[in-house]
Amino acid sequence: MSYGEIPTLKPALTSVMWKTVSEACNLACDYCYYSQCNGMPKKIEHIDDTVLEKFITEYMNISKGYVSFVWQGGEPLLAGIDFFRKVVHLQAKHAPNNTIISNSIQTNGTLINEEWASFFKEYNFLVGVSLDGPEDMNDARRVMGSGKGSYKRIMRGIEYLKDANADFNILTVLHENNITRAADLMKFYQEQNFPFVQFIPCMDFRAQEINKPGVFLITPKQYGDFLCDIFDEWYNDGMPQTSIRFFDDMLAVYLNQHAGLCSHLETCPKHLVLEQNGDAYPCDFFIHEEYRLGNVGVDTLEDLLTNELMENFHDLKPNLPDPCKSCEFLHLCHGGCPRNRIKSNNEFGVEYFCESHKQVYRYAHERMQIVASNVKKKRIQDLINAGYKMPGRNDHCICGSMKKFKKCCEPLLSFN
Ligand code: SF4
Ligand code: SF4
Repeated sequence: MSYGEIPTLKPALTSVMWKTVSEACNLACDYCYYSQCNGMPKKIEHIDDTVLEKFITEYMNISKGYVSFVWQGGEPLLAGIDFFRKVVHLQAKHAPNNTIISNSIQTNGTLINEEWASFFKEYNFLVGVSLDGPEDMNDARRVMGSGKGSYKRIMRGIEYLKDANADFNILTVLHENNITRAADLMKFYQEQNFPFVQFIPCMDFRAQEINKPGVFLITPKQYGDFLCDIFDEWYNDGMPQTSIRFFDDMLAVYLNQHAGLCSHLETCPKHLVLEQNGDAYPCDFFIHEEYRLGNVGVDTLEDLLTNELMENFHDLKPNLPDPCKSCEFLHLCHGGCPRNRIKSNNEFGVEYFCESHKQVYRYAHERMQIVASNVKKKRIQDLINAGYKMPGRNDHCICGSMKKFKKCCEPLLSFN
């Protein structure tokens, strides 16, 4: 058993996201699509011990060598560190030999102290910290229950993570206060040495209301402009230094690999989202009775995964609207997220951010080719340095393109 290594296996269940304390949260971000306690949670109820152990046991039994847990909230740290000590204990107790265990946690960062940071480091948790940029941008929307800005407490939590050398990334919600400030955001993240950043457009609908259209606080044009602006900052003469999830995904496709984000994949991953009480759904955006698969405290994991509602859900993404079928960017976008295809008249159309994606795909294409070429050159050089023999000219290329080596990466050998 080992914690947090990179998965290479294809398990029956890609990952499970568990809402550790339901909607309890100590922040009152005005755009939150889930929590309704206004930053003043009353009673904290975390996952029941028996349900936790039952699920972990069953998950380990179907694991095929790899399991992935994502702990979310509300604010999951409100469950207390002893809850997470129990989690890692149960994972270790029930993991078959040689199982890779991945844990990530999405937190607002305000409760992280030295003890949490060293726990995350010890068990290789990947910590996603929500931060909307420098103080003015963050505190415009992300406030404590008292109404005070959360920036200083978040940054204090990040300092603990840095001191403990724990892995973390930054999740930034895009809204009216930061959408036009791509350069300022990037400057701030680089000054702070944040190596991994993800941007998500701010939702203006509740995830539980699956019959309402997915609408957002920013327009497709604003998001498209933002992506182009942040691409300029990311590009760095063809040698990007900061990892930005959207461009990492795009680059992966240019390198003949798969994107990481579910919305950029051909199908939605086989994923479970669990409410604190064990109710199971196929996705965080489909938390509705229509898609309730059962409850992990009562039903077997196998029953949940073979429930026909799961199949119905997985039919959604590949059922592309006509414009996607002939779209030149389908290999990059795969029609986006089906939740964002729901329109106000309850019909399906192209995803809300279709035009934003097209805008940045066009804008970035030539420079993305340069970045991909630079990455390939570096990989080839590393292989040569490691004594790896290059393929014959008519053999398959080493980059996975399935093209002949001479038609793909061989010309890059003359790069010096
Ligand atoms: S519905 Fe959207 S968010 Fe959910 S798994 Fe599919 S692409 Fe991802
Ligand atoms: S860019 Fe638009 S049309 Fe093209 S695949 Fe994506 S959502 Fe469909």
